[in-house]
Amino acid sequence: RAKNEGRCTYRFFEAAMGVQVTARRMIEHELRQALARQGLFLVYQPQTRVDSGETVGFEALVRWRNEAGEDVPPSLFIPIAEESGTILPIGEWVLRTACREAAGWSQPLGIAVNVSPVQIHNAGFARVVHEILLETGLTPQRLELEITETALIRDLNRALATLRQLKALGVRIAMDDFGTGYSSLSNLRAFPFDKIKIDGSFIKAVDSNDQAATIVRAVLGLGKGLGLPVLAEGVETPGELRFLNAEMCTEAQGYLLGRPARIEQFRHLTEGEARRGVHEPDRALRAR
Ligand code: C2E
Ligand code: MG
Ligand code: MG
Ligand code: MG
Repeated sequence: RAKNEGRCTYRFFEAAMGVQVTARRMIEHELRQALARQGLFLVYQPQTRVDSGETVGFEALVRWRNEAGEDVPPSLFIPIAEESGTILPIGEWVLRTACREAAGWSQPLGIAVNVSPVQIHNAGFARVVHEILLETGLTPQRLELEITETALIRDLNRALATLRQLKALGVRIAMDDFGTGYSSLSNLRAFPFDKIKIDGSFIKAVDSNDQAATIVRAVLGLGKGLGLPVLAEGVETPGELRFLNAEMCTEAQGYLLGRPARIEQFRHLTEGEARRGVHEPDRALRAR
């Protein structure tokens, strides 16, 4: 079943992007080599409390610079890696690298890692997470796994069993890209989520677009009702952040608060005493 879905994803992808089978095979081959030869790296994007401007964690995002020196976007290579199964070793590498990195910080900030549906449906995923936690020494509560709804629908029972195993380890689970895809509100109740991430497409112009504002308010109400913090993705303007602050959104992430970058760019946050005061949000909120 998963295999078929992978093929569908690929067909859709191929049609949408015009990527030929041979090109896809080449990308897949180069990707495997990149994984073996340390051609992949991670960038980190701050996750910030809206009320205080305090950075509470980072999301790890995988990057690939190919042999020709071009940056291949994840939106292009992740679907290929998922279809071919290469996402399993890549996902494990991402998880291990992010956990090892975070375990070395002097500040106990959160670390969010994206998990592919293919990983969730692979038997033994929770065991891999457990091993990585033991190996890196990261406090499980600092790890947050970001999962999209598409990860759940393939096999609800199996996904639920995996999520329960992960929760038993002490790690947190965030629903990523909420509002896109096959949003089923019952998923929010049936699955042990610890956070809702509203997709960036709803945040765009939320301060000037009534429909976007209505949708975001509804999701914030949902989070409040379910007792789940809500993080707004893709926050790009002070106006959007002010709206989120007025509506009591918990956390925000986006270019306004920090672009994804190598972790060295954030040493003042991972090592510093103060986790706030360096960000736009403070200024943006004061400017009201
Ligand atoms: P995502 O998990 O929803 O990540 C958020 C994406 O939005 C990232 O794109 C990030 O760079 C981008 N972004 C952040 N702030 C802003 C903003 O203010 N405006 C706009 N327009 N975009 C913003 P990126 O890094 O290209 O990743 C795209 C997607 O690829 C991710 O969406 C995630 O689904 C997937 N991905 C990235 N890294 C990994 C990974 O390590 N494993 C897996 N399985 N998927 C990954
Ligand atoms: Mg994510
Ligand atoms: Mg997202
Ligand atoms: Mg996304």
